[in-house]
Amino acid sequence: MSQYWTTLDHLYIEKLLEPGAEIDQVAQSFQIKISPTMQQQISRAKGEEREALLRQFIPSIAENHILPEELDDPIGDGRFTPVAGVVHRYPDRALLKITQLCEVYCRFCFRKEMIGQKGENLTKSELQNALDYFAEHQELWEVILTGGDPLILSIRRLREVLLALAAIPHLKSIRIHSRIPLISPEKISPELLALLDEVMASGKMLTVVLHANHAAEFSPEGRAALRALRSKGVMLLSQSVLLKGVNDNLPALKALMYTFVENGVKPYYLHQMDLARGTSHFVVSNEAGIALINQLREEISGICIPRLIIEIPEGEGKRVLA
Ligand SMILES: *Cc1c(COP(=O)(O)O)cnc(C)c1O
Ligand code: SF4
Repeated sequence: MSQYWTTLDHLYIEKLLEPGAEIDQVAQSFQIKISPTMQQQISRAKGEEREALLRQFIPSIAENHILPEELDDPIGDGRFTPVAGVVHRYPDRALLKITQLCEVYCRFCFRKEMIGQKGENLTKSELQNALDYFAEHQELWEVILTGGDPLILSIRRLREVLLALAAIPHLKSIRIHSRIPLISPEKISPELLALLDEVMASGKMLTVVLHANHAAEFSPEGRAALRALRSKGVMLLSQSVLLKGVNDNLPALKALMYTFVENGVKPYYLHQMDLARGTSHFVVSNEAGIALINQLREEISGICIPRLIIEIPEGEGKRVLA
């Protein structure tokens, strides 16, 4: 497997891959995309850090290995989708899946069947129906923008969506799940920051839940983007996935959690892998995950400890493991 990343000498994705029918098939079923900033971080990183980055984004033929228990909708979103793009599983909050595009395609993505070339953005009328759903459901205190990566959208589109959500009186919290502050920090532009400011000035709280899995993902540019978000008063929380060969050891997890807090991001969730197709080479056992969290708790500051959670298949929701 590792042959696909030990040969990295160039910044171009094509050159990271060994030619071959099998890997072509992998790349066709879930496309390859690595943002320029992440390519730069890969070229800067050495040794284990480099492997931890490459393993997340460079396809492996192991993706062709599909287990019978793996699913194309591993967390059962389908059952809780009242209108296109909305997942309403918990009483006070619902997801708005506004785009299926990202700036990187993570090989372990639990939504990989929907993300990338097969995906697209919600159409204008689908978006309107979704916004109507949020407006009609008074019990919704929070909207969680997700995807894909919501911050990939143009400022114009984001403005339309965020201001429409901000105009719904019962929604008090707008949460954005994103990798972009680190993966494509240039998208945290003055225009975006001004828009976020405008949304918060209307009395809504904005939270960005930052997805990162290794301390080597934090570039100087990414750190500056996080600082800029914080300077606007956006609350920053983390989410990571526990990944074999990336962060399933104490030093890597410690460094990741320290780096979050050093950059103003409160560790929130560490996810166990969901049963997405062709991702078993990333799986860490629950026992090993719980042991890692317990060790973290003994060794590092309490503000650096995330909760380890697992999504129960068939849409039963999240369970806290540690
Ligand atoms: C995870 C999830 C949320 C958010 O849950 P929190 O525990 O509040 O972070 C909301 N809706 C769905 C469908 C989810 O899967
Ligand atoms: S950024 Fe998130 S949604 Fe996009 S490929 Fe990675 S894990 Fe999947």
